[in-house]
Amino acid sequence: MISRDGTVLALSGGIGGAKLALGLSHVLPSGRLAVVANTGDDFEHLGLSISPDIDTLMYTLAGLDNPETGWGRAGETWNFMAALEALGGETWFRLGDRDLATHVERTRRLAAGETLSAITADLCRRLGVGPRILPMSDDRVRTRVKTDEGWLDFQDYFVRRRCAPRVLELSFAGASQARPQFEFLRLLDAPDLRAVVICPSNPFISIDPILAVPEVREALRQCAAPVVAVSPIIGGKAVKGPTAKMMAELGLPISAAEVARRYDGLIDGYVADHADVGAMSGLSVQVAFARTLMQSLDDRIALARAALDFADALQDRRVAAE
Ligand code: GDP
Repeated sequence: MISRDGTVLALSGGIGGAKLALGLSHVLPSGRLAVVANTGDDFEHLGLSISPDIDTLMYTLAGLDNPETGWGRAGETWNFMAALEALGGETWFRLGDRDLATHVERTRRLAAGETLSAITADLCRRLGVGPRILPMSDDRVRTRVKTDEGWLDFQDYFVRRRCAPRVLELSFAGASQARPQFEFLRLLDAPDLRAVVICPSNPFISIDPILAVPEVREALRQCAAPVVAVSPIIGGKAVKGPTAKMMAELGLPISAAEVARRYDGLIDGYVADHADVGAMSGLSVQVAFARTLMQSLDDRIALARAALDFADALQDRRVAAE
């Protein structure tokens, strides 16, 4: 019997996922949320180890995120960038002064031999983040994008080239040798796991890297708790970012149902927007409809509740059928 007091495990990329993670953090009792972050976007730049999705989650859950940019820290200043530019340095990846401290400290501690997990846990504690943020792996995984201009490192494609090149294929270098983060795997198998929520993140570049880590797919399939995904596509469009553009370039229909199909065999339920009611037939999973556009904090909380209620209902049905 899975307890309603159990732990919820969310899988997330950056901005879209962090919005739902914030909602979940408001709905769940303290200590009951763990968020697994994609680290395929991580890269080394200006000698620094940068983990964009971990940082977006960390700042969002600490209430330190920058609502204007959607990334980085609130109240940011840009003295470092301006000084770097004056020296002729590389400025295509914007690093605010406060944000820079995170990367400097992470880089120092990684070089001293600490794991990304341990560093993230400590930074979260210092910034007052309640939920646990778990990197998908402490081993190095790097998303690479095959485009009509050749293979690009992820941030070259995403930030430097602003997703302009046409995507042909994605690869997650290092994934096949990576070990899943130990707590991530332990939670998937934990008797008190209440639900797994796949956040409305880009399926190709935020969720697929997590699923590419060995044992993760199998652990999700075996998991006794319900696995529910929330659609990142609303009314046939992405809210932001290149999800829809990538689907078109990869020859896929741009629809909420197509994202659900990508998670076939892994999920028990899918939360789609009311706008997509007419476009969800033929799926092998149960579908629930909700308002999935998260503009306000209340929207984030309401969607988190809807996803959890759906997961609990799926679990009740499963128990009743046994
Ligand atoms: P990234 O790391 O910035 O790409 O962030 P994610 O991968 O977490 O999120 C990108 C996806 O989130 C896009 O497909 C967006 O459509 C989706 N997204 C962003 N905001 C929302 C929202 O409010 N509701 C829903 N349902 N999806 C959203």
